[in-house]
Amino acid sequence: MPEMVVSMELGYCKAGILHADIEFVKKKKGIDGIETLEKILKSMGAKASINQVMKMKPAENVSVEFRKMFLDACFQVFDKDPEKIKEMGRNSPSISPLQKLVLGHFMTPEKAIGYAPKFWRENYTAGELVVLEINREKNYVRLAIKNFPVSKVFCIHLAGYFEGVGKLTKVISVTCKEMKCVHDGAEFCEFEIRSG
Ligand SMILES: [Zn+2]
Repeated sequence: MPEMVVSMELGYCKAGILHADIEFVKKKKGIDGIETLEKILKSMGAKASINQVMKMKPAENVSVEFRKMFLDACFQVFDKDPEKIKEMGRNSPSISPLQKLVLGHFMTPEKAIGYAPKFWRENYTAGELVVLEINREKNYVRLAIKNFPVSKVFCIHLAGYFEGVGKLTKVISVTCKEMKCVHDGAEFCEFEIRSG
């Protein structure tokens, strides 16, 4: 078990979340991309490596501090293109076997939304996911992430992740936009998910 940076505020997340992203980088940028990631992480002073994280079980804990550094490094590998980070998030629920297994039980988007706060608690030891509004007439849902100021790149990834979850619930098209963000001075991050 590699030594991880402990952050009391941001806590831990499951290694499975990182496994999905590492697979995505490997698919898009090959083994060279992974090597570049390792180099960037080392230069950032990360206390763990991709190699160590890959050896962990999906349910093992990785510090969110490392998660933050990892996403920042991915942002550099993808030439600072936010769309690629969003795509990485979108891809995440469909690659991780753990998440796929969990989401596979839910055929309707409404059930998935109802499950979202619990899903958050299972994957992150800090922060909170709150369902703010479910608007059935206009087909949108508003979610908030509270007390979890990781980084803007993390928020972009999360917006993509919500789109990916929607895709697994067999909705024709799902788009997610972050409407308010703690990194732009808001009290919490607010995401709007629209389905059509
Ligand atoms: Zn945000």
